[in-house]
Amino acid sequence: MEKSVQLKKETIKSNHSGAGEYDMVIIGSGLTGLASGLMWQKNTDNKRTLIIEKNSYPGGYSTSYERDGYIFETTQLFPDIVDILKYLEIEIDLKQFEGNFMRRLVVDGDQVEEYKIPAGTENFKEYLVTTFPDDADKIRSLLDYSVDMFKQVRKLKAHSTTRDKLMIPFQAPKVVANLNRTYSGLLDKFGITNTKLREVMETFTSFSGVPSDRASAIYATGAMLSSMTRCFRPYGYFDEYPAKMAQLFQERGGEIRLGAEVEKIVVENGEAKGVKIKGEDGVIGAGTIITTVDPMLAMRKLVGDEHLPASYVEKLENIIMSVSSINVALGLDDKIDMTTLDLDYPYNVLSTGLGTAEKLFEGYLEGDQAFTDDCFHMAVICPSLTTGAKNTVTLRCTPFALNQWKEWRENDYSKYKQEKEKWGDFFIGLAEKYLIPNLSKHIVVKDISTPATYARYSGSPTGSLYDMASLVTQFGPKRLPMKTPVKNLYQPKFAHGLYGTMMNGVQVVDMLLDRKFNNGNSLFAPNNR
Ligand SMILES: Cc1cc2nc3c(=O)[nH]c(=O)nc-3n(C[C@H](O)[C@H](O)[C@H](O)COP(=O)(O)OP(=O)(O)OC[C@H]3O[C@@H](n4cnc5c(N)ncnc54)[C@H](O)[C@@H]3O)c2cc1C
Repeated sequence: MEKSVQLKKETIKSNHSGAGEYDMVIIGSGLTGLASGLMWQKNTDNKRTLIIEKNSYPGGYSTSYERDGYIFETTQLFPDIVDILKYLEIEIDLKQFEGNFMRRLVVDGDQVEEYKIPAGTENFKEYLVTTFPDDADKIRSLLDYSVDMFKQVRKLKAHSTTRDKLMIPFQAPKVVANLNRTYSGLLDKFGITNTKLREVMETFTSFSGVPSDRASAIYATGAMLSSMTRCFRPYGYFDEYPAKMAQLFQERGGEIRLGAEVEKIVVENGEAKGVKIKGEDGVIGAGTIITTVDPMLAMRKLVGDEHLPASYVEKLENIIMSVSSINVALGLDDKIDMTTLDLDYPYNVLSTGLGTAEKLFEGYLEGDQAFTDDCFHMAVICPSLTTGAKNTVTLRCTPFALNQWKEWRENDYSKYKQEKEKWGDFFIGLAEKYLIPNLSKHIVVKDISTPATYARYSGSPTGSLYDMASLVTQFGPKRLPMKTPVKNLYQPKFAHGLYGTMMNGVQVVDMLLDRKFNNGNSLFAPNNR
């Protein structure tokens, strides 16, 4: 079938001058790479900067693609990063979800509970109080505490002086108190025992495919507040966002080289000197290198253990990477009226009840998956309700491990296809049963991504969607630091998601500029605004 639209990502072309030496080389043109490049440009006198990307388009995990005339997307929710967009002068037409943030169905045998979680923290609080009146006081206390804790995160420094460190207990006591607390620990602290209320609250940890008894309380609170305070999506397709960033970066003098895979970060005497591109001789020299690819790939393969201290290698060995996924993208005929199905939310989430996330994560840790008819979790997203394009539905199903998916894809394609179809049918069946009657009768195009797909496109050896898992055991000071043991090599992988990746860019540039741009702050609060 003919292509119906040109995606914005396809309009970005390499503009590598062929130079062999740069002040800054950024590996990867995902959102972290592009945010780092733009922040760097804006706060320096436009030093020679090159972004190197192995794919033929920018954007990494935040992208759109076409299959037989239907446009599908990976990302679906644009959190509240409007101030950063303004700062970088990125113009993108966004739809704000004013009403509900999420429709949540919790299945328990034959019973289905439905919740409609409103956007905005105050609205959310009132909704919970009305839905769970017996827990009203606990809900108010928890949410007020959460908002306060997030405000205290704003006071923290990502790059602290000794004085900053001494001030932390006074400026951010709630952050200190929760540094080692899990999200379920936070719910316990407020005496929240009502199973149904916990199910609703734990929605925010399952965002990252992590169960609440392992998720960092601070991270989950941040994810909740940054996404529900004001949430958006583009009126167009999601690839427009990285494409705009890439275009601005190039217009402002930056170079992007697409279709070039970094094979090696060249290290001499403990110092990063440049990068080697696969299939080419020679090295592109760099004063500073920022790697934005999966840390296991960057540090273990591109740098190599031989250039790293044993303690760092041990830390890498113990890191748990985040989960992978099966995404079922469906193009539907025009006989189905999607507008009547009450699906126009950033997320429709369908899952079984309390304990589901724990069981699914255990399955992932064992290297496989643990989905059954009685244990599932999936998000159902309908981008065409905003874009106005032909009907599309995406079923996002986490967590899956890479397991044999890569092996099947490379060496036993019929098995790969068979497994894909099996899981596709499983998730389509669930969506049909609970959310979209007769869904299977309307399918025109079906495109299923597996953990092997994610591994291939991102370069992540585990097909991980969300970088290092946001577990409490790898949060804050326990996460891999941005400054690597290799001199001049930086790895801003503090957080994931559209919000987190922008913060990655803010923090790494601020570190490189000795806090001259963001004053060392953990969140975006630049000096020169
Ligand atoms: C299916 C899906 C849905 C999501 N939905 C949302 C959402 O709705 N909202 C939200 O906030 N977040 C969402 N996320 C998370 C968000 O998309 C990611 O956290 C974010 O895009 C990661 O950006 P990044 O730049 O850190 O990494 P990546 O996007 O992984 O970018 C890394 C880039 O490096 C390139 N690369 C890798 N190896 C090499 C190499 N050797 N040489 C050169 N280049 C290389 C890759 O090709 C890639 O382009 C979603 C993620 C997925 C996968």
